[in-house]
Amino acid sequence: MKIKEIVSALERFAPLPLQDGFDNAGLQIGLTEAEATGALLCLDVTEAVLDEAIALGYNLVISHHPLIFKGYKSITGKDYVERCILKAIKNDIVIYSAHTNLDNAQGGVNYKIAEKIGLKNLKVLEPKENSLIKLVTFVPDAQADSVREALFAAGCGNIGNYDSCSYNLKGEGTFRAKEGTHPFCGTIGELHHENEVRIETILPVYKKAEVIKALLSVHPYEEPAFDLYPLQNDWLQAGSGIVGELDESETELEFLKRIKKIFEVGCVRHNKLTGREIQKVALCGGAGAFLLPQAIRTGADVFITGEIKYHDYFGHEGDILMAEIGHYESEQYTKEIFYSIIRDLFPNFALQLSKINTNPIKYL
Ligand SMILES: [Zn+2]
Repeated sequence: MKIKEIVSALERFAPLPLQDGFDNAGLQIGLTEAEATGALLCLDVTEAVLDEAIALGYNLVISHHPLIFKGYKSITGKDYVERCILKAIKNDIVIYSAHTNLDNAQGGVNYKIAEKIGLKNLKVLEPKENSLIKLVTFVPDAQADSVREALFAAGCGNIGNYDSCSYNLKGEGTFRAKEGTHPFCGTIGELHHENEVRIETILPVYKKAEVIKALLSVHPYEEPAFDLYPLQNDWLQAGSGIVGELDESETELEFLKRIKKIFEVGCVRHNKLTGREIQKVALCGGAGAFLLPQAIRTGADVFITGEIKYHDYFGHEGDILMAEIGHYESEQYTKEIFYSIIRDLFPNFALQLSKINTNPIKYL
């Protein structure tokens, strides 16, 4: 199996267009035409992680955090990133990273954290805006089924846990084919009336090109009519953070102690305990403090993230319990997401979670 097959499996799960503007998710180093000898899964790429891959004989390293974030004018090994780049190239290792695209994808980083805590009824805390469009097209009755199916296969019609969503209205289309055309029905030079179905469906903006290609390939008309509308709807299935509920409420202390254990946190930092019961939990892996206002708005009892600044703690004890569990600690189980995506598709492929703790922060 080629490395590019694994990469495309990861990108079907966490499409690159879902990444945030500052990010550099995707292929970092290497040629994906190579046969994959095995994949090592990690949170951060370090020299020790690359040595681990070399020792295993694996030529693919999949990380959550991208190794490369900036442009380089020289690569001389003056810092660990440059040394990793050199080591990877020297040893024919491909490095691939799924970062904020995996944070924002359904089933991604925050869903994994929610699973570890045991949350139900999960909702995205800050759904993506301006990410959906509506497609409307007009198809002869007899071809409506095949056009709909092609649109669904290309990525249209997904709303929540439903697929194949569309609205279909019967009506009549008209056209007159001019000289030199090859009309599917009707006669050149004569006004034609055709019974058509108006098909409406929804799609993510990033699938636009793929969907139009599918539409044009299956629509019977020489010049298919279709409209694309921008939508104001938030994309409820993609975005930052998660809010969910515990089956049974816990005291603040019970909850924080449980979190400390699950995520193996050296020290959980939190604001003042006020005696509230914890039932509704908002969370975001990594540096998620920007979601505090959304967590408060949603009525969560607690907000958990990897990093919170000193000043962000002030004034919220009446709103919400805030708990900071460390960046690495919060995202360490991301490796398991990579594992299950690849394991499901390629059951016999050599695959291993890195045994190296790459957390640069230690607790005294
Ligand atoms: Zn992170």
